[in-house]
Amino acid sequence: MTTIVCATCTNPGGSRNGRPWCDPCGIWLVLHEPSGQWVSYAEREYRQRAAETEQAIAASIRLVDEHLARVHELLPEGWSARTHQAMRGALYAIAIDAPDGVIDATSYLQPPTGRFERTVTVHNRVTGVGFPSFADGGARAASFHTVDAAIEDAVGLLRGEIHDLEARRRWRDHPRLR
Ligand SMILES: [Zn+2]
Repeated sequence: MTTIVCATCTNPGGSRNGRPWCDPCGIWLVLHEPSGQWVSYAEREYRQRAAETEQAIAASIRLVDEHLARVHELLPEGWSARTHQAMRGALYAIAIDAPDGVIDATSYLQPPTGRFERTVTVHNRVTGVGFPSFADGGARAASFHTVDAAIEDAVGLLRGEIHDLEARRRWRDHPRLR
């Protein structure tokens, strides 16, 4: 058996109740297999979650790259699509924009991950409102089994925002409608 060394304090590990234990740190030691280090249970849990998150991000980049060509094929004339990451550590998505100047809003197509299904959201930067595409009945976010269905929905959501914008302009420009 390999020697147990505590990764936190680098002292040799001891044993307590027959399980690996670090006396200076006061923690049970458990092997984190990818690194070969002996760490606390909490630290191993943290590392496993971090690794899962990294894998999910990497998978989302692959899916976005895979689907981008299909998205370009299906978009209406003048619309555009690009790779998008909201912030560091977030999953990648495909951002879809209407032609320049039509509306300051974007819809996003989130690829499926191990934990989440494919979803579509829209963010309107003028009204500050963002929301997902809802399933029938409106109680929960819709998920899409195919890229094609998701694209159609993403375009529809953004068209809904454009429609609302035009309605608001008409309302604003014609005081008698108020
Ligand atoms: Zn220690």
